[in-house]
Amino acid sequence: MYQAATVVDAQLVADALTEADIACELTGQYLSGAIGELPPGDVLGVRIHDATLEARAREVIADWDLARKRVRDDWFCRGCGEQIGGAFGLCWKCGAAEPV
Ligand SMILES: [Zn+2]
Repeated sequence: MYQAATVVDAQLVADALTEADIACELTGQYLSGAIGELPPGDVLGVRIHDATLEARAREVIADWDLARKRVRDDWFCRGCGEQIGGAFGLCWKCGAAEPV
């Protein structure tokens, strides 16, 4: 249901789904170790086990995709002036929230 560009992407998506209590598995992950011809249609991706959860899974993936694109620059805390990594929403020194 999700076609990933890289194994890492596929694994991250699978992790996000698992966190959302959606059972899933990676497909095509053993491509590099496969012997001989690859079966047709065996693309790298993520397959969920319960098809009724697909809509929910798509939401999770969309959220994950958005979050991934929102990697920000470092920012400076208004409370203490500490430089904070862009992945963090709170100052790790004084706990102040990131200025919006
Ligand atoms: Zn601070």
